Parts: sequence; structure tokens; C-alpha cells
Amino acid sequence: MRHQIAAANWKMNLTYKQGKILLDEIMNKQIALEPHKKAIFAVPFPYLRMAKKKIKDRENYSIAAQNCHHLKSGAYTGEVSAEMIKSVGVGFVIIGHSERRQYFNETDALLSEKVNIAIDHHLTPIFCCGESLPIRESGKENEFVAGQLKNSLFHLPAEQIQKIVVAYEPIWAIGTGKTASSQQAQDMHAWLRSVIAKQYGQPVADTISILYGGSVKGSNAVEIFSQPDVDGGLVGGASLNGEEFAAIIRALK
Ligand code: PEP
Repeated sequence: MRHQIAAANWKMNLTYKQGKILLDEIMNKQIALEPHKKAIFAVPFPYLRMAKKKIKDRENYSIAAQNCHHLKSGAYTGEVSAEMIKSVGVGFVIIGHSERRQYFNETDALLSEKVNIAIDHHLTPIFCCGESLPIRESGKENEFVAGQLKNSLFHLPAEQIQKIVVAYEPIWAIGTGKTASSQQAQDMHAWLRSVIAKQYGQPVADTISILYGGSVKGSNAVEIFSQPDVDGGLVGGASLNGEEFAAIIRALK
């Protein structure tokens, strides 16, 4: 089933106490999610257990890590493995966020290894892709983003690619207050679905959730999510505010 997903990416924000208060605020709103909808909170590593407890076993609420190492285990001081994340009951992991590509030099090749290790440990990758402003201005965004998918995901067999959630996040729209128009989001999402369909067939492409990320807020979520190929959003700034993120969850179609 193709899920409609509101995913919060807290990044390196909030203290433990602030995180608890925020989760309490959102969970206290008792927003019921039908089986085709999901709300996911990607919290900092030290908060994973707490966040897992806060959502309890509320249907269709889940926790994600924001990153994992590409190797199974070993002498990599400060790193966190997919197996560790799974062992605390977490089901999702963000892979390839543009901030990690930019500040931690994560390449398509490295990300394909992270995708593999996540799947090996039964974590669902939320795989991020998206172009910079110069690439968009050069008119090469379609081939650039398709290249990111091909390089990091297309080695997977069909039954595994269906486990991936894709998040299209144009870099020029992340944290800038500049949102892609709903038509720009739809055009890219439809293009990415067609690229996946060409490789794996339309039935497989139709099962994959493609989220939009880039300055999604309570006030624009309904319009963006209403597009036929937009299956919800990955949300940074607005996910740090309970009212805003609740509105975004409610905007899922
Ligand atoms: C993000 O970091 O994934 C993101 C989309 O951030 P923002 O919503 O703040 O643009």
C-alpha cells in the first residue's frame, strides 16, 4: 500500500525536555490515522527510546533515526549502526539528507551502502534526493535527481525498492521559507515515479511513497499534499511546533 506520510525531522534541535513536551503536545491531540497514513518523528539519537515510549503503540505513529553508519559494527567512535537503531525498536531511518550530503560529504555510493545496511536490519530508509538552485536554474534538475535515485537505489531488487520511502527535497527550498510550488513538486514527483516505473514497472512505482520536503507548513500542506504524486512531506522547521506539525498531519489525504 502507498502510504501518505507526515515525517518530522527535528535535526539537531531541542533539548530532551523540550522534545518530550513537544511529543506530549502532539500525541495529546489524539489525531487518529487511518491505515494508509503515517506520522513519523525523526529525533536525535539520544531521544529515540523516549520518543518510542511517547508514541506508545498508537496506530501508525513511528519513530525514525536521522542517519546510520554504512557498516555493521566496529571501531568507528561516535557512530551509530542500523542494528543499534533497530535494537531500540525504531523502524525508520533518514538516509541522504542534503545536509549530510553537503556537510558530511556523503556520496551516492556511500548512500547506497547505507540503504543496504538499513534494509538488512529491517529499517525502512527515508531516502532524500533533490537539486541545488544552480542545477534547477540550468534546467537539469530532472536528470540530476533521477541520477541520485539510480546511483543509490537501483541496485535493489523490486521487492526491496518497494520498502523505500523517497523524499524529494529541493535544496533551495529547505529552511529557506521558499517552497516549491505544488505544480513544481507534482512535476518532479511524477517524473521520479516514471523513472522508477521504467526500471521496475508501474505497479512497483505506484506502491512507493514520495514525500515533498522544503518549507512545508500548516498553511501550505493541504495544497502541496493534494497533488496526485505527492504522498505527504518531510518537515524540518515546522515540525518543531506542535500546532504546525499537527496541522501537517491533518493535511494528509
Ligand atoms: C528538511 O530538512 O528535511 C526540511 C524540509 O526542512 P524545512 O521544512 O525546514 O525546509
